[in-house]
Amino acid sequence: MGRIIIYDGAEEIGGSKILVETGKDKFLLDFGLNYKRRGLYFEEFLNPRVANGIGDLYYLGLIPPIKGLYRKDLTKKLCQNGNEELGKGDEPSPVDCIFVSHAHFDHSAYISMVREDIPIFASSTTIALLKAMEESGATNFETSMFKFIKRDTTSSKNEEKYGTHDIRSIDSSVHLTESVVSPFSVDHSVPGAVGFVIQSPQATIVYSGDLRLHGKRRKDTEKFVHSAKESKPDFFLVEGTNLGEKESGEFWTEQRVYEEANEVFKKSEGLIIVNFSIRDVDRFLTFYELAKAYGRKFVLTLRDAYLLKAMREIGLGVPGLDDPSIYFYLEKRRSGTYCDEDYREAWFKNIFTVIDSGKLLKASDIKKNEKEFLIILRFFDLQELVDIQPRPGSVYIHSSSEAHTEEQTIDETRLDNWLKAFGLPPKVHIHASGHAKREDIFGIIQEINAKVVLPIHTEHSEEIKKQFPDRVRIVKNFDIVNI
Ligand SMILES: [Zn+2]
Ligand SMILES: [Zn+2]
Repeated sequence: MGRIIIYDGAEEIGGSKILVETGKDKFLLDFGLNYKRRGLYFEEFLNPRVANGIGDLYYLGLIPPIKGLYRKDLTKKLCQNGNEELGKGDEPSPVDCIFVSHAHFDHSAYISMVREDIPIFASSTTIALLKAMEESGATNFETSMFKFIKRDTTSSKNEEKYGTHDIRSIDSSVHLTESVVSPFSVDHSVPGAVGFVIQSPQATIVYSGDLRLHGKRRKDTEKFVHSAKESKPDFFLVEGTNLGEKESGEFWTEQRVYEEANEVFKKSEGLIIVNFSIRDVDRFLTFYELAKAYGRKFVLTLRDAYLLKAMREIGLGVPGLDDPSIYFYLEKRRSGTYCDEDYREAWFKNIFTVIDSGKLLKASDIKKNEKEFLIILRFFDLQELVDIQPRPGSVYIHSSSEAHTEEQTIDETRLDNWLKAFGLPPKVHIHASGHAKREDIFGIIQEINAKVVLPIHTEHSEEIKKQFPDRVRIVKNFDIVNI
C-alpha cells in the first residue's frame, strides 16, 4: 500500500507540498512558499532569521516536519537543542527526488531549504527561468537553489561558502524504482509549466499543477487532459484557484487584454506604465505589440532585460535585446550618480556587454518625452516615479494576478497611494487569469474521470464537492490519503 500526504497548499492557494509514497518510491510534488501563511507572521521588516536556519520557518509551520529532508547547515542550530522531528540532515533521505511543476515561487521556492543531494526535476524552461531570476536578484535565503550561502561556515572561499542543488531537466518520463512520472506541458501564466501523470503498481495519480484552458496554449492543456484520461487515473490532484469566482467576466482572454489595453493606449497623452511579470510571455507579447502599434519605445528595467535574454535563449519566441523597439531603464543605485561602480554585480556586467548603450535611458531621458514610451515597472520599482515624475495624462496599467494574499491586498492600497501622490488616475486593471475558470475545472474533472478527485490550491474545494459529490474527497493539510 502507498499513500499521498498533502503537507501544504490543500485548502489555500500556493505553498503546494505533496508527498507521494508507493511501495518502493517516495517523492514530492512541488515544494513552494506559502505566501499566505508567511504573511500571517512576517512582513517587510520582520523576516525569518537566517541565523536560525530553518528554525523560524519550522516553528511557524512554514515547512513540514519531515525528518532528514532539510539542509544540514540549516538544521544544525535546531539539532543542538535536540530536535527529534527534523533529524540532523545526515539520515538517509526521506524522499528520492522532488518534481517541480513550474517557475512560480508558491510551487518552487522552498526547494532552497531541502538537502542539496536530493535530485530536483523540472522542465528545462522552468529551470532556465528560475536560474535567471536568481542570478538577477540578491541571493535570498528563501528562494536560492542554484547558489545558496551555506550557513554553517565562516569561510570566504567560494567553494566552501556556496552550495547548489542537484537540479535536472525533464522533458520526458522519469523511471523510478517502480513508478514512472511523466510531465505534460500545460498552459499557465508562465512558460514551462507541466502537469504530471504518475503510474505506479499501487495507483495512477494525476497532478494538474497550475493550468488554464482560456490561454493561447490551450492545446497543451487539452493534450495533458487527454493523456491523463488515457492513463485511467485512480486519483486526480486538481488546482481550484478560481472556484470561488462564479462570474466568468473576469476571465478575459489575452485578446481581450489586448483590446482593453488598446483603448487605454488610444487615450493616453503621457507615459504608459505597465505592471506585469515578464515571465508571462503572452502578456509580454500583448504589450510589446501595442507599443509597436503606437510607435512607443518599450522600456524594460535591466532585471527584466536579463530575464528576457534568458527567455530568448531557450527559444520562447520573445524579441531579443537588440530589437529596435526595446529600450532599457537605468535605475539610480548606490551613489546616485550612475557611475560604473554602482552596477558592479556580475549580472549587470553581463547585460551591459550585450545591449546597445545608446538605448540605456535614465529617468530624465524618459521625462523629456513621456509620450514616446511604455515602461514596465513592478510594484517594487514604484520609487522610480519620484525620478520620472510622470505628467498628467500618464496612466498605470496593472496587468498581473488578482490579489490572493492579504499582503498583496495591502500592496494594492500602497499602489493607489503612490498613484495619488503623483496625481495619476487610479490604476487600470487589465488581466487574464493564469488559472482555469470554474466551468473549465469541472470540464477537466469530468473528462479525466478519475475515481477520486482531491481538490488542492483552492479556498473553495466545497464547490467541486457539490459538483461531483461521489468522487471528491476534501483534503486538509497533513491529511493522509491511502492509495
Ligand atoms: Zn500556484
Ligand atoms: Zn502558478
